[in-house]
Amino acid sequence: MAPSHALRCCKRVINWVPAVFINLVVGWSYYAYVVELCVYTITSNAERICYLIIFHIALFLFIWAYWKTIWSKPASPSKAFVLPRAEKELYEQEERAQVQQEILKKVAKNLPIYTRTAGGAVRYCDICQVIKPDRCHHCSTCEMCVLKMDHHCPWVNNCVGFSNYKYFVLFLAYASLYCLVICATVVQYFIKFWTKQEPNTHAKFHILFLFFVAALFFISVVSLLSYHLWLVGKNRTTIEAFRAPVFANGPDKNGFSLGFSRNVAEVFGDQAKHWFFPVFSALGDGHSFVTRLVHIDPEQANSVLQQNGKSPADGEANSCVIANNVQHTEELSKEKTDGEHTVSVSVESEP
Ligand SMILES: [Zn+2]
Ligand SMILES: [Zn+2]
Repeated sequence: MAPSHALRCCKRVINWVPAVFINLVVGWSYYAYVVELCVYTITSNAERICYLIIFHIALFLFIWAYWKTIWSKPASPSKAFVLPRAEKELYEQEERAQVQQEILKKVAKNLPIYTRTAGGAVRYCDICQVIKPDRCHHCSTCEMCVLKMDHHCPWVNNCVGFSNYKYFVLFLAYASLYCLVICATVVQYFIKFWTKQEPNTHAKFHILFLFFVAALFFISVVSLLSYHLWLVGKNRTTIEAFRAPVFANGPDKNGFSLGFSRNVAEVFGDQAKHWFFPVFSALGDGHSFVTRLVHIDPEQANSVLQQNGKSPADGEANSCVIANNVQHTEELSKEKTDGEHTVSVSVESEP
């Protein structure tokens, strides 16, 4: 086995440590709650059954969302964002950065891309060799470009992005609910053991510890959940909250914000029946996003719209490109275009 391969395997195993730790804590909390509390400590049958039902509902939702977050493969850019063979050869042979940029700009004209690097260049990943779609970033841990990347989460050993952001938010919500159910039902027994009203059995250690751990996790998870709910409302990723995306007119932290209800729908979908379950319901395909302020280069807008009649290189990606641009067109037609072809698309006014 080559040393670099062995090192990579070792790194992969180490990356799982936080997720295994969480699973062990959850496994122990299950034992402590079901066996030590419900079987050995609670004497009333009605109370025991009631607690077990509520506990298992919260646990099921939590585990469902957690596993979906862990096992959802991060979505990467489609073939439409890979340089065509001729351009790729030219790009690789060229040493002048400026000429390389011209090649990228030419290809990017046919793509629904509105963001640039801080220096105004087309965002290109040299490792994956793709033009980065808006909101896409390269994750060094996953070693790939991830669509609408939010962050790489060690607790789930996965990238949180377009494919699993909804699952991640639900995981935080149901983890909070799970901890809350434990705290609310254990607290009276915690007090009884603490004040020595209950005899000193082996259940005491588990129940005291269970309350402390659940309370601690509840506080930290709720804080993270509140932050992510705020981000959903603003249509921002964690990366964008720290570094505003750069549009033709400069950085704009609210560039993708379409108003609260549309922002929520973009992550959770537009049908309420899907909101509370970890099933995929996000809008779009993660490659193109409707922007609040679109300072469209008229040449680029036309070339993208021209794809409507062509056979797309990548069906799935382009169908959304078209869908999104149709949306742009409908909205654009309602708006006035000023002399510099700068169009303001205000879907809902941001407070
Ligand atoms: Zn990449
Ligand atoms: Zn990652």
